[in-house]
Amino acid sequence: MPQPITEAAGTALAGPAGEHGSLYEADRVRFNRAADVMNLDDRARAVLSEPSREIIYHVPVRIAASRNPAENGRTRTFLACRVQYNSVYGPYKGGIRFHPQVSLDEVKALAAAMTWKSPLLEIPFGGAKGGVAFDPARYGPADIEALTRRLTFEMLSDIGPDQDIPAPDVNTDEQIMDWIYDTYCVHAAQRYHPSNAAVVTGKSVACGGLPGRAPATGQGLALALREWMKERRKDPGGLRVALQGFGKVGSHAARFLQDMGCRIVAVADARGAVASPRGLDARALAEHVRPAGTVAGFAGAAAISEEEFYAADAEIFIPAALENSVTKRTAPLLRCQVVAEGANCPTTLEGDEILAERGIDVLPDIFANAGGVAVSYLEWLVNRGTHTFTTEDIDRFLSERYARNYGIIAHTRTRYATDRRTACYIVSLGRIAEKIVHRGLYP
Ligand code: NAD
Repeated sequence: MPQPITEAAGTALAGPAGEHGSLYEADRVRFNRAADVMNLDDRARAVLSEPSREIIYHVPVRIAASRNPAENGRTRTFLACRVQYNSVYGPYKGGIRFHPQVSLDEVKALAAAMTWKSPLLEIPFGGAKGGVAFDPARYGPADIEALTRRLTFEMLSDIGPDQDIPAPDVNTDEQIMDWIYDTYCVHAAQRYHPSNAAVVTGKSVACGGLPGRAPATGQGLALALREWMKERRKDPGGLRVALQGFGKVGSHAARFLQDMGCRIVAVADARGAVASPRGLDARALAEHVRPAGTVAGFAGAAAISEEEFYAADAEIFIPAALENSVTKRTAPLLRCQVVAEGANCPTTLEGDEILAERGIDVLPDIFANAGGVAVSYLEWLVNRGTHTFTTEDIDRFLSERYARNYGIIAHTRTRYATDRRTACYIVSLGRIAEKIVHRGLYP
């Protein structure tokens, strides 16, 4: 009998411990492998081996609209953290995630990923990440707003347009970014200064966001795949896609790939999975998900189990949900030619080995999902009053950055006779290390 993909399965994906081990340790293995292969400068290696700062907050919220009536009127404290991994390449930058399974280990790994990501598209940002162990599905908008505003207050001395710039991530959106911006303004020395908007990216257009930011991560993923198709001489018209996660990343990636000519044949989210060999229309599926909250029940599609989803007959597999998706258990099921990582850290170390043994190519997260931070950079520049960008400018910027850096990564892969993930780390570490070597180490 087909097994539904349940919330319980979803939370298992996020767990840093247990079957999959520490996410941060997995990043250490990849970092050290690249550092060895490229013979990374000793100072750079030491500086980049650990985060600069790991900050813990306990955020009290008076609950008003919990799904559990016993909580209403009471005060609860939520654990939050911000990891500022490194700022040599630019101010700290990275999303804030709301998820019940958030842990410091996970946030450290995600902050490291942000540090390696921006340099890969030549974006002058460092790396950070934040998380709150909080399940927004259990609370009303008033609670989510109260948590966001109090969290911002707690973070006031740690964030700022030139210091650390948060953005959306899992379960956080432009409304939450607007609340962060507003709370920051209330406490800022220059409350009305227009460049206060640069404290956070991924805001609504009304608050200084760019219309191109919301689709940017999915667009970048499609552009990374376009370069892969060119390299492999593949016609997008002949390619089928299986997509895990139909949120901010997955839904836009589906639309861009469909517009390139690919066919979306299977989609899974936290509450179900659907398939159609004729293709699932990305726009109609997004219309269905808006009120339904899940891809399950999409008209004309068959409900499939998690196993059937992983084994979908598709050339492209896109994990765009949470970490630890492609594992010792699931990698042998895949029938794809390439895994394009929309999510952060979706492939475990064992998953990597199995993909390599099976000859399945990988477009690593730190390159494939960097489109969001690239367009966040443009939003940040606009908010600081130095630039303006049209939609065409944004499209051209992303397209050029992906084409150029795909080529540089391919060249590095050949030069060091290594895999694409290690090549991505080498290019990124090389760019950061160059600055460390020039700046030297204080004192
Ligand atoms: P989101 O909250 O908008 O969407 C998450 C999606 O994953 C939802 O469709 C959810 O149902 C699904 N999901 C959760 N658990 C699942 C499970 N067990 N099985 C299948 N699907 C499951 O989040 P998002 O912003 O789209 O982020 C997704 C991933 O992409 C995360 O790893 C995030 O860190 C990464 N990422 C996001 C951005 C961005 O700009 N939003 C940028 C880079 C990387």
